[in-house]
Amino acid sequence: MKRRVFTDSIQKLGDFANGLGLCLSESQLEQFARYAALIQEWNQKFNLTAITDEAEIVALHFADALTVAPVLLRERARCETPPTFMDVGTGAGLPGIPLKIALPEWRVWLVDSTAKKLRFCEAVVQALALREVYALHARAEELALRPEHREQYPVVVARAVAPLPTLVEYLLPLTRLGGLCIAMKGRQAEQEVNEAAYAIEVLGGVVEALQPTALPQREESRALVLIRKLRPTPRQYPRAGGAPRNRPLKPR
Ligand code: SAM
Repeated sequence: MKRRVFTDSIQKLGDFANGLGLCLSESQLEQFARYAALIQEWNQKFNLTAITDEAEIVALHFADALTVAPVLLRERARCETPPTFMDVGTGAGLPGIPLKIALPEWRVWLVDSTAKKLRFCEAVVQALALREVYALHARAEELALRPEHREQYPVVVARAVAPLPTLVEYLLPLTRLGGLCIAMKGRQAEQEVNEAAYAIEVLGGVVEALQPTALPQREESRALVLIRKLRPTPRQYPRAGGAPRNRPLKPR
């Protein structure tokens, strides 16, 4: 059988994934290449992401998304089959779609308040023939008021959606008891954790770890904030009318 030739950046993604304990097959690398091409194609019509160069898409979006995979692998034992995670504010499918490509066993919910971005995600899901990926057009804080979604997800992840005090009011109400919220953050992660301490406590969580991550050939420091849900979120949260964003929870 003829071997597919990949660009340098896709090959480097395979190496980076190896370092995370993931072994990506040729067909998985092919899915990443196709996904990068779709981002570039759609970006000409819509403003999906500011990053448009293939090498940058792969290094800054896909590799960054994959840094969550070892956490999912650890959480696997706590999940039933199929294991499930929700990606809140997924935008162009990040980190949800790269994680689904790398860990196809997982069932994935992609949530975003912008319909156009979800249409793109649906097109990717179809083009890559990804199974058990559900795109949901909703605001996270409204979704969490619906009983079929409230406290249902063993893992809820988000990248570049909101400052942590706001973000935890989106994520913790959707996370089931014993489950894990994963906030992908930059170099201010520690400061954000301090600022969100009160909100995390009120919403039933506890910070389990602040885990540094690294991107291939990049200096910038990044971190995963891992928050365990220990107690049910009180009924009054999340608050309506944009309150999580406009008036993040803080001590009086
Ligand atoms: N997570 C993607 C990434 O890392 O590239 C997208 C990041 S983009 C800066 C933020 C996304 O979050 C946007 O697509 C926006 O529509 C979505 N978003 C913001 N607030 C939201 C909310 N309350 N509920 C659902 N989606 C939200």
